[in-house]
Amino acid sequence: MPDSRRPQRQPSGPRRPHPPAGDAPEPPSAERAVQDRRGPRQKVRAFLSLGSNLGDRRAYLAEAVTRLPDVVAVSRVYETDPVGGPPGQGAYLNCIVELHTDLTPRELLMAAQATEAAANRIRLERWGPRTLDVDVLLVGDEEVDEADLTVPHPRMWTRGFVLVPLGDLAPELVIGRLTSEQARGVRPAGEL
Ligand code: ADP
Ligand code: MG
Repeated sequence: MPDSRRPQRQPSGPRRPHPPAGDAPEPPSAERAVQDRRGPRQKVRAFLSLGSNLGDRRAYLAEAVTRLPDVVAVSRVYETDPVGGPPGQGAYLNCIVELHTDLTPRELLMAAQATEAAANRIRLERWGPRTLDVDVLLVGDEEVDEADLTVPHPRMWTRGFVLVPLGDLAPELVIGRLTSEQARGVRPAGEL
C-alpha cells in the first residue's frame, strides 16, 4: 500500500492563524477542528488506545469500539497493573483500535473524548481510575504539538500496555522498541 501511508501533513505552525503570542485563550476544540481541516484529506492508518479500570471494563472497551469512527481492526485485550496514579486502583484492561480515516488528529481527539463521555467518565484526578480512557496514538505520520493535543502520543513508546497490543496490529511499528521490561506485567486477557 504505497500511498495510503504517505503523510498528509497538516500545517501545524506558521500557516495556522495563531493568536499573537501572550496569554490569548486557546479557541475551543470544535473551532480548532474547523481550522485544522483544510479541504479533503487522504485516508491514513491511525491508532487509538483504549483503557478501563472501573466497572465492567470489557463492556466499556466493547462499547467504545462500536462508537469510534472508521475502525477497521481491534487488537487482543490485555490486563495491566496501573502505572503511576493514586495507590489502590484496580488493574486495567487495554486494547488498541486501528482506524482507516480521513479525520484530523483533532477530530479524532473529539471523537475520543465523546466516547469517554458516553462511558460516563468522571475526571476526578489525573491518572486516577476511569471507566474509559481513549488516547490518540498515531494518525498516519502527522505530528501535532499543541497545548491539549500531542500526536504521536508522547508516552506511547514507553508503555508496555500500548506497545504490546499495538504489536498485534502493526508489528513493524513495535519491533525494536518493546523491551522485555515493558512487556512484563502485560497479561493476555482474550479478545473483545
Ligand atoms: P491520560 O490519558 O494521560 O491518562 P487524560 O485522559 O486525563 O490523561 O488526558 C489529559 C489530556 O491529555 C486531555 O485533556 C487531552 O487534551 C490531552 N491530550 C494530549 N494529547 C493527547 C492525545 N494524543 N490523546 C488524548 N489526549 C491527549
Ligand atoms: Mg487520555
